[in-house]
Amino acid sequence: MLIYIAIMGRGLPHLKENKDKIDMKTLIICSGGLDSVTLAYKIAKEGRLSGLISFDYGQRHKKELLFAKKCAQALNTSFDVIDISGVGAALSGSALTDNIIDVPDGHYAKDSMKVTIVPNRNAIMLTIAYGIASARRCSKVATAVHGGDHFIYPDCRPKFINSFQNMQNYALEGLSQIELYTPFLKKTKAEIAAEGARLSVPFSDTWSCYKGGDIHCGRCGTCVERIEAFNIAGINDPTKYADPDFWKQATEKGVA
Ligand SMILES: [Zn+2]
Repeated sequence: MLIYIAIMGRGLPHLKENKDKIDMKTLIICSGGLDSVTLAYKIAKEGRLSGLISFDYGQRHKKELLFAKKCAQALNTSFDVIDISGVGAALSGSALTDNIIDVPDGHYAKDSMKVTIVPNRNAIMLTIAYGIASARRCSKVATAVHGGDHFIYPDCRPKFINSFQNMQNYALEGLSQIELYTPFLKKTKAEIAAEGARLSVPFSDTWSCYKGGDIHCGRCGTCVERIEAFNIAGINDPTKYADPDFWKQATEKGVA
């Protein structure tokens, strides 16, 4: 019996070390925005970072990918851009991928923002991320969907997230067990900004604006949401906006 205990005693640390190396890694979908960069810093602090992936789906604000790369460099982790621009081109009719449709100004929850939907965008990205995570033997895929996304984007809502997890359990049955990690799912963007401040996220190295100009426009839905979040959280916003005051009237009018 004593021999048995001694063997077990030597074995446990080895098993734990192995588990840390193989099973505890998280692959993060990072767009370079405030939310996903904060998520990357959070997971890096938790010591579970596997790497960052971003998607080129032909978005007009493709410059966001440079900010995702900056995040990966700052966290000293791997970074891959997955090119699905051919798929994005086929998903026409969105202001984010179709140059003949203007990105609307206003509050992020207004019905007019539905023109920024790229159909199935999040579902497509997650499916690809799960394939990569399985190949890399990661135990989690992390995405920064949050409460502010729920108004407009159906594939960012809790029902979708739960259903996607169930679907993937079957898709990878016998191959991998991968958890969908969405710690911001029910948080507001202001709460994420506050968490980012606690994690010392360099907010000036994040990009939100859908218009993809030289500086943030301050008028599109995601710019309005970003400015409002910093304001509610009481955190200094280092971002330069072309129109820094429009958000006040956009948030006063609220949802159309
Ligand atoms: Zn903008």
